[in-house]
Amino acid sequence: MPRKTKLICTLGPATESEEMIGSLIDCGTNVFRLNMSHAKHEWAAEMSRRVRRESDKRNLHIPVLFDLTGPSIRTGDLPQAYELKEGDIVEFRKQGSEPKIPLSTTVNYDGLIADVSEGNTLVVDNGVLLMRIDSVQEDRIHCFVKTPGTMGSRRHINLPGVRLNLPALTEKDHKDLALAVECGADYIAGSFVRDASHVRELREAMEALEGEAQIVAKVEDQEAVRNIDAIIHASDVIMVARGDLGVEVAFEELPILQRRIVKRCHELGTRVIVATQMLESMIVNPTPTRAEVTDVSNAAYEEADSLMLSGETSVGRYPERCVEAIVRIANRIERSGGLGYGQNVHLRDERQKVARAAVTLADSLSEGLLVVLTRRGVLANHVAMLRPKTSGFYAFTPNERVCRQLSMTRGITAFKLSFATNIEETIHRLSEFLKTEGLVRPGTPIVIVSDMLSGHFAANSILLHHA
Ligand code: PEP
Repeated sequence: MPRKTKLICTLGPATESEEMIGSLIDCGTNVFRLNMSHAKHEWAAEMSRRVRRESDKRNLHIPVLFDLTGPSIRTGDLPQAYELKEGDIVEFRKQGSEPKIPLSTTVNYDGLIADVSEGNTLVVDNGVLLMRIDSVQEDRIHCFVKTPGTMGSRRHINLPGVRLNLPALTEKDHKDLALAVECGADYIAGSFVRDASHVRELREAMEALEGEAQIVAKVEDQEAVRNIDAIIHASDVIMVARGDLGVEVAFEELPILQRRIVKRCHELGTRVIVATQMLESMIVNPTPTRAEVTDVSNAAYEEADSLMLSGETSVGRYPERCVEAIVRIANRIERSGGLGYGQNVHLRDERQKVARAAVTLADSLSEGLLVVLTRRGVLANHVAMLRPKTSGFYAFTPNERVCRQLSMTRGITAFKLSFATNIEETIHRLSEFLKTEGLVRPGTPIVIVSDMLSGHFAANSILLHHA
């Protein structure tokens, strides 16, 4: 039975060679991610070409996800890093203003001073340094250092619980977006999406460039969690971005939020990725910790569409072993059964009800297969969200990009197939294809669901065919 949980690997210096990209595909990677916080344009364009070449060689359809930096708040350029002790006072000031105390840095977001209040927590470098905002002045704030540590240049700043008036997209994001479209990106992720208007702005900017990517919204702060339903409705895919989210909320809330977001994505029919620190220790170690094995199993048990590796594959020592570890854990969990949120999907229209009927029929047949004929991938994603239990679940589409985009979706294996003008011929083609690939034995029942109009084969049809 093919693995259902999909895997996204972030490319970086450890995995940029064509051989390594090929090897990661062979080990089980379904999607490659380029993190635009680190990627130079030429490099990202070259990586997109390499992924395309390596997938073509294997006759596979592997998508590329461009992950935009988003409006992150960062410390300024310091002549040298500050070694901070508990009780030190650090100044964060507007760009262009002069320091008033020795431990001072600019921040790249002037609006910060207006957004925060005395008593708020300020976190630097993903939790390395915790500070309390003690005074807010016209052009600067002073913070009391609660945990000692080093503060360097361009370090990431989080303000848990503070509503920030940052824009959806920065100038850099617009440039990166143009590159992503030029490279034919299949997915574009917006970072620090705080409400649905941010998702819409990204989609509109992408469409204005005539891009055809699907939009991933990274949920990484409390405001996004508050607006989760609207964000889910506006997005093609949600990413539970646990790196930032884990800093923005009390850490004990993180597993609860992950599960709640995964469940809500199921209910509302939007795909979901669980990301960050899944196998963090494998950046330097050849095997995962027990806690990591449990964390990966948990996300696979929740039946998320995709799990994502970041530093593990971009800069880690053991990228292939990381992919193998995810594959082993996901396969094992899938044999033992999942949480079943697919039962909770809100069926909003007739098409979704047809999808449910097809899944019920296919699941009830011994050794039955499920096939979706899909032009845009929408019906295929509806069917997948119901988490069918069949041993084979295939989508056929004439569109190469849809094939690639379905590689993110749990459970589906997508193939490119040109549709004939009459449905009998299309079914004949897919049936022959499955037989040639050894994916079906003669006589196997195949439930075929489609919403295409073709001859007497009406929209929203379910057909039971024997191979
Ligand atoms: C995260 O915060 O979990 C995340 C995926 O975002 P990034 O790695 O871009 O900071």
